[in-house]
Amino acid sequence: MRVSIALFTSDLRLHDNPVLRAARRGSDAIVPLFVVDSGVREAGFDAPNRRAFLADCLADLDAGLRGRGGRLVVRTGDVVEQVCRVADESGARRVHIAGGVSRYAMRREDRLRDALRGERCNLLVHDAVITAIAPGALTPVGGDHFAVFTPYFHHWESTVPRDVLGAPRVVRVPEGIGSDDLPSRTDLRNVSRGLAAGGETEGRARLRAWESGPMADYAALHDDLAGDATSRLSPFLHFGSLSPAELVHRARKASGEGAEAYQRQLAWRDFHHQVLAARPDAGWHDYRPRDRDWRQDDEEIAAWRQGRTGYPVVDAAMRQLLYEGWMHPRARLLAASFLTKTLRVDWRVGARYFLDLLVDGDMANNQLNWQWVAGTGTDTRPNRVLNPLRQAKRFDPRGDYVRRWVPELAGVEGAAVHRPWLLPAELRNRLDYPEPLLDLGTGPAGFPEARGA
Ligand code: FAD
Repeated sequence: MRVSIALFTSDLRLHDNPVLRAARRGSDAIVPLFVVDSGVREAGFDAPNRRAFLADCLADLDAGLRGRGGRLVVRTGDVVEQVCRVADESGARRVHIAGGVSRYAMRREDRLRDALRGERCNLLVHDAVITAIAPGALTPVGGDHFAVFTPYFHHWESTVPRDVLGAPRVVRVPEGIGSDDLPSRTDLRNVSRGLAAGGETEGRARLRAWESGPMADYAALHDDLAGDATSRLSPFLHFGSLSPAELVHRARKASGEGAEAYQRQLAWRDFHHQVLAARPDAGWHDYRPRDRDWRQDDEEIAAWRQGRTGYPVVDAAMRQLLYEGWMHPRARLLAASFLTKTLRVDWRVGARYFLDLLVDGDMANNQLNWQWVAGTGTDTRPNRVLNPLRQAKRFDPRGDYVRRWVPELAGVEGAAVHRPWLLPAELRNRLDYPEPLLDLGTGPAGFPEARGA
């Protein structure tokens, strides 16, 4: 019997999955395998929110496979050891995997390729599974990747992603392949209380709801903090419960400004992936070293993390992150700018904290967005500073976002909520809310541009 292994990583779906399709082609049976990889924890990428979401994704994937006559095989431990063991037990001659872009994923591919050779088994790596357009598919003349978004986007817009693949009708898994229990959400501690449910079924339902209404207004409303009018599909894309190529095809079929603006964001995702694939060092090293003079004030960093900077819109953003394990895209920009440009704290400190909490936290999008904001990345205006008060006025004009996330200020009406220090002393003294960490007029010593725009 010809057996192949479909090794799931960031592609936890049955619809439009080239890994699954390729594993089934030419095989009598497949082992749909997921390894709860001890290396991920050792590398510091493990986070309770992502573990919880992952548990949902795996349960849903298993249910989907069972509905087709198969099941998910789960193993725990070092990914290379476990895949070799399953290859040995099943007699598989091929292992299929989605191509990754992080240093960790690339090293995993190299290690697997070497180790499987000893099992007389081939590793086949598939492109355009975790991105719509494969990293490296679009390149500028004379370069290996695009370092600026706009020219990348021009090429991306006129490139058609690969065709969308249907979900398999039947999956045959060889008998006698043991599996560990599926990881469970209930055993986990420190999961954000408002964390969304994960899984392909949930993701596809959200996708349909998004396309049938809110997407049309995306261009007008995507920056409205209180409106909460973005797709919230990023965790599903991160775990691959939704296929980016399928999302691009569907958005292109829909017409209108909303669908166009949304496609542009999907292109940002591909853009960051192609940067990281070409420059894996950019995960933790400055993409464009700019000689920034970082400050390290532990009390200020703690206040930023806890949402107690005294700038309500920044604090609302950080409290949303704590409660949901997710943050509105505009809020990410202003919270990251406040840390790196106003407090002048090294972007790595903020990126680390986001990675510990974000359900969609990943090396390409998180690290390269942090670098973009900090001025060490691909931003063509590296010195721009987002002033939290002006951001609040533009994107939370009535103060509803702040009141939603900062209960101490829930009783303050209108836009006055953004400047609690101007409230009458009698009222201010009753609020358990801190004074601003710094005066935006001056900023930390030696950083006058903290005044911002
Ligand atoms: P929508 O506005 O509906 O956009 C649609 C999709 O486009 C998103 O689901 C996402 O996959 C993609 N997208 C949107 N904006 C960006 C962007 N700037 N860069 C890359 N892809 C984008 N995104 C992550 O997926 N993981 C992260 O770890 C992450 N960290 C970030 C850290 C900072 C400091 C900043 C400024 C942004 C970060 N982003 C990250 C990008 C973006 O903020 C999130 O993808 C977005 O908040 C997700 O919300 P949504 O799904 O409603 O997005």
